[in-house]
Amino acid sequence: MKLSKASIALTMVMTTGPAGTLLAQHWGYEGEAGPQNWGKLDAKFAMCASGKNQSPIDLSGFVEADLKPLKLDYKAGSAEILNNGHTVQVNYAPGSSLAVDSRAFDLKQFHFHSPSENKMNGKQFPLEGHLVHADKDGNLAVVAVMFQEGAANALLTRLWEKMPNKAGEKSTLPTGLSVSQLLPKERDYYRFNGSLTTPPCSEGVRWFVMKKPATASKAQIEQFFKAVGVANNRPIQATNARAVLQ
Ligand SMILES: [Zn+2]
Repeated sequence: MKLSKASIALTMVMTTGPAGTLLAQHWGYEGEAGPQNWGKLDAKFAMCASGKNQSPIDLSGFVEADLKPLKLDYKAGSAEILNNGHTVQVNYAPGSSLAVDSRAFDLKQFHFHSPSENKMNGKQFPLEGHLVHADKDGNLAVVAVMFQEGAANALLTRLWEKMPNKAGEKSTLPTGLSVSQLLPKERDYYRFNGSLTTPPCSEGVRWFVMKKPATASKAQIEQFFKAVGVANNRPIQATNARAVLQ
């Protein structure tokens, strides 16, 4: 049997993990398994190609709306940090939440993209954090924060000390981490409907993007990029009929 180029690329990606680790990573950011082909890699990923409310987007053409302050109830907690080959992700202890639309969304995990996935009026940032929340019915809400190069971020300093540098590795983080430290002090935000930015690209995700960027040092941004080993940003998707509220 002659293997197609796509299946060869797929096999190669599958075998890059350390022996014995199962990396469900038959998609990537480059080549045949890259974003332009995600919709074809698996029937479950069809939305990546056919969706009309996909993320990320270039935020622009803002529509004035009566957006209430974000009700974030973030507790200090423990966590584990893992490198899944697509990003470095922190699985956060239960008990922190976001209240919006009369629903409670629990903070599940946060992870990063470098460079940023979303843009603001065409501007891309060197790093973007995604704080992923889910309500009891599985609806998702993502609070996104851009990082510009500047002062080191205090939480990233603690997280990166335990940075798993290879795909498939994870470490336990100390207790008493404060996820609020990721966010800027001023928490005005843009809101729009979007999707997961990774397969299966599921839609119906509430996006809240902080208007003000936070800062991370050049060394922090570089350390993350080196651990992931690839620019892990999905290209900008069409905004279509969506409004970006502010
Ligand atoms: Zn993300």
